[in-house]
Amino acid sequence: MIEDSSLWVVSDVDGTLMDHSYDLTPAKETIKKLQKLSIPVILCTSKTASEVKVIRKELNLSDPYIVENGAAIYGESLEKVNGEIILGKKYDDLEDILNSISKEIDYKLIPLNNLTDQEATHLTGLRGNSLNLMRDRHWSMPFLNPPSFLEDKINICSKKYQVDIYKGNRMSHLLSINSNKGKAINALKKYSNIQNIQIIGLGDSPNDLPLLLSSDIRIVIPGKDGPNLNLLDQLKDLEFTLASEPNGYGWKNEINKLINNIKII
Ligand SMILES: [Mg+2]
Repeated sequence: MIEDSSLWVVSDVDGTLMDHSYDLTPAKETIKKLQKLSIPVILCTSKTASEVKVIRKELNLSDPYIVENGAAIYGESLEKVNGEIILGKKYDDLEDILNSISKEIDYKLIPLNNLTDQEATHLTGLRGNSLNLMRDRHWSMPFLNPPSFLEDKINICSKKYQVDIYKGNRMSHLLSINSNKGKAINALKKYSNIQNIQIIGLGDSPNDLPLLLSSDIRIVIPGKDGPNLNLLDQLKDLEFTLASEPNGYGWKNEINKLINNIKII
């Protein structure tokens, strides 16, 4: 229960808790240790609730989880709000906005959900039923990365339509300005009604910046080719730790160091 602890681990999933082959094994033992210490592990991801349900089951997690880049928070234990806190705009409304931006920049921005199975597999590595889970999206709009020369124009449009656009390595995400990973963390803090919550935040890419800015201990997880330089640049004036190993291995090492310190206290 999030209400039972004033220390929370809030973690991105793709590229942070697991590598791009979707292997959760390296972090599993450490997650068990956190559970023994009653420290919640709150997944905070661009994935859909349907995708996260599979991961929670594999990790045996029951803490609330933040999905669709902070647009929605779900969890059986969020009883006061019937299991959900929604911060985002509806998918259909975001699709209308994406189409309007496409017209203004004279370039067709393509939603991830409009790709064929083959195209989606090529982009994400997911196949079969995993593609259906990925498409079960309600409050955010991932779309194919536009060419970089259009970025300035798109940023001007995003202000006009009151949305934020986060560019990731494989795709971009269109979100209501009222939703991002940091805003979701703050909504969950408010819900819990606990004073002085300390958050250990872990992420690997620029869409994790709001997550890391809302964390007290910030951990950047590198990929196998090193950390995301754009994210490091955005964090350069702040205190943070760069894990020395990639993905789940870096995750487990850094969390283990922190847990061991807790035991000493
Ligand atoms: Mg990530």
